[in-house]
Amino acid sequence: MDTSSWDVVVVGAGVAGLAAARLLQDAGRRVVVLEARGRVGGRVHTDRSEGRVTDLGASWIHGVDGSAVAAAADAFGLPTVEFTVGGYQVDGRPIAYHAPDGRRMSDDEAARFAADVHTVDRTLAEVVAASGPSDSYRDVVERAVTAQGWDADRSARVLEHLEHRSEEQYGVAADELAAHGLDDDTIEGDEVVFPHGYDELPARLAEGLDVRLGHAVSVVTRSSDAVTVATDHGLFSAGAAVVTVPVGVLQAGVIRFEPPLPDPHRRALGALRMNAFEKVVLRFPQRFWDDDVYAVRQLGPAGAWWHSWYDLTRMDGEPTLLTFAAGPAAHAIRGWSAERVRDSVLGQLRRLYGDRVDDPTSVLVTAWQDDPWARGSYAHMLPGSTTADHDDLAEPIDGVLHLAGEATWTDDPATVAAAMYSGHRAAERVLGRAVPVERLWA
Ligand SMILES: Cc1cc2nc3c(=O)[nH]c(=O)nc-3n(C[C@H](O)[C@H](O)[C@H](O)COP(=O)(O)OP(=O)(O)OC[C@H]3O[C@@H](n4cnc5c(N)ncnc54)[C@H](O)[C@@H]3O)c2cc1C
Repeated sequence: MDTSSWDVVVVGAGVAGLAAARLLQDAGRRVVVLEARGRVGGRVHTDRSEGRVTDLGASWIHGVDGSAVAAAADAFGLPTVEFTVGGYQVDGRPIAYHAPDGRRMSDDEAARFAADVHTVDRTLAEVVAASGPSDSYRDVVERAVTAQGWDADRSARVLEHLEHRSEEQYGVAADELAAHGLDDDTIEGDEVVFPHGYDELPARLAEGLDVRLGHAVSVVTRSSDAVTVATDHGLFSAGAAVVTVPVGVLQAGVIRFEPPLPDPHRRALGALRMNAFEKVVLRFPQRFWDDDVYAVRQLGPAGAWWHSWYDLTRMDGEPTLLTFAAGPAAHAIRGWSAERVRDSVLGQLRRLYGDRVDDPTSVLVTAWQDDPWARGSYAHMLPGSTTADHDDLAEPIDGVLHLAGEATWTDDPATVAAAMYSGHRAAERVLGRAVPVERLWA
């Protein structure tokens, strides 16, 4: 190995690493990307078995207005389909709501429920702003619901919805999420999904880069003017390194830093945690749910785990529902067989639709919690953390080492966009000057 031939070593070929590497190479730097897996994309990963396209990691661009991910997808000619339900919206797009007893709610009942959620949301913004440093999302949600003075049932439905929002948006129970943990939860414009697979995006970003697959990094050693990265295929040295592995990988000590990461970085790392969030994708021989809805939703205690099903039929015409095991449900199903998960989900669907629910023709269940190179789906803020912890993690270290990745971006963490912007920022810091993000798809 010629250890002197690189200007920058990038660790991780997810969207953050590929974005950084592409911008650095575009600026004339000699760049190598080291990736532990046998593929690029990281948590953007598409299954193409049996001729079907299923995104196992990210699905959505959560709002296309002003999004660099949307601009890149457009420029690369990647088809997208509008599907504006990714942010756990209560309405805005048609949703088939079912009451706690399983009965389909009328449009008026559903509209009253949605109005209640909007009312609490307005109070919630003020309660979050006034919250204490160690308050959880559950604390603020309870305060905001109690302030309405509603009866027990009406309060319970909205409380449930907001707890499920914490679980679906961040893969964590509301009492383990910081009060400010959903502050970034705004969506500008329509949301879209990728009928040909989200992985086309990292595949295009990786074109022309020197990506070394199957290179697991174990040690990152820095001096005042160089970084040496040890892998199971030897050493790589460069003037700078950009490390984009998920915070779960950093916390597990998979990579040893010599010298250790500075205290502010370790403190920020301790304020974040990888979540538990798994996808369950079921394909059916025929559609049994309502036409023209984006999702089916079950209110009440019966929907503690399985409460929302997203209609992905629009992707390829095959009747398909996506649901999530999120937070407590994801912990509970860890280690279950796909059949056991399927039966559990079908039990709920049959409660709503009876024997119209055929057995699915295909079931996919993800296991990001057990993925050694991810250790969860994305990071969330623990109670006691602040939104600035994300940015603190990305502060340059000794002028030669940069951390990047979704968890290092404050405005909209936990997304593909955050990964891309964090890679862009790392590239600018390595270069010591601004570069337009548009160079990614130029
Ligand atoms: C189930 C699920 C659903 C999601 N839904 C959405 C969504 O709808 N919309 C959205 O915007 N975002 C979504 N996300 C989040 C989004 O996928 C991530 O935020 C984003 O892809 C993270 O990119 P990254 O480059 O920061 O990290 P990663 O993609 O994880 O890239 C890091 C890379 O580092 C590699 N690596 C790890 N350890 C080592 C090592 N020791 N040596 C070498 N390489 C290593 C990993 O293999 C990986 O390829 C979802 C994620 C999951 C899992």
